[in-house]
Amino acid sequence: MIRTRALTRLSVLKSVFKTAVTISKVHTSGNISKFHSLPVTFQLPEMKIRLIPALQDNYMYLLIDEETKQCAAVDPVEPKKILDAVNEEGVNLTTVLTTHHHWDHAGGNEELVKLYTGGKLEVCGGDDRIGALTRIVTHGDKIQIGKLSIQCLFTPCHTLGHICYFVEAEGGEQPAVFTGDTLFIGGCGRFFEGTPDQMYIALVEILAKLPGNTRVYCGHEYTVANLKFAAHVEPNNTAIKQKISWAQSQRDKGLPTVPSIISEELAFNPFMRVGDPAVQSHANSTNPLEVMGFLREEKNTFS
Ligand SMILES: [Zn+2]
Repeated sequence: MIRTRALTRLSVLKSVFKTAVTISKVHTSGNISKFHSLPVTFQLPEMKIRLIPALQDNYMYLLIDEETKQCAAVDPVEPKKILDAVNEEGVNLTTVLTTHHHWDHAGGNEELVKLYTGGKLEVCGGDDRIGALTRIVTHGDKIQIGKLSIQCLFTPCHTLGHICYFVEAEGGEQPAVFTGDTLFIGGCGRFFEGTPDQMYIALVEILAKLPGNTRVYCGHEYTVANLKFAAHVEPNNTAIKQKISWAQSQRDKGLPTVPSIISEELAFNPFMRVGDPAVQSHANSTNPLEVMGFLREEKNTFS
């Protein structure tokens, strides 16, 4: 029995990590000392995602449709860096995808619209506090970037207008989701405007139900700190131990720890594991909503 359980656990771990995503290019030209991590590109046949570090620990992204060369910018808080990348890629920026109204995500929208000379930008977001907004989106709304289809996922809690953007390519094998400050690798955002129930819906009922191989591109580089908390919650969880040593080695090389994939998050992210007996026993409750609230409170003061 014990042996069977150990084998099952091993095969789960193998399947979790075999679809992990590798960096296809590290950008070392230009003034990279202005970045907190090295800018990198993730290439799939239909879809290219360029990660551009911003401010202290934020990530902005360019999402490029390879067939039409149309592209979207996600949370372009530093517009000049975004426009440099757009020029370097030779792509046509059409859309801004804003996850939420906080200044370190939405604060560059107005300047980007002003600086951009390639046509009118569609600025999407789920909150009228977002600058330069041209289209307010809600759950289930669709946005098209060339051949890439984007579905808006309404995930209020960190802020009441937070949107995650789920991206699928026609005939593509691996979707992507931009999660802003709702889901981080190994953690989640603070509940500034919402409740544990809302974060439960966002993480467990919406994001956890995306295909397991969906790549998770979040808004901040918080992974190592998040996983230290995860290890405190579940000291015997092997997936957490493996991911923390990988994440630490990425950071030692100045590389981002983004993306993870949804099936990995289900194995090591305590906020997505509020239904798991080990996490529930740590929180001393079998009610997943109470566990969510307990974990967030504990993480707020954890160091
Ligand atoms: Zn935020």
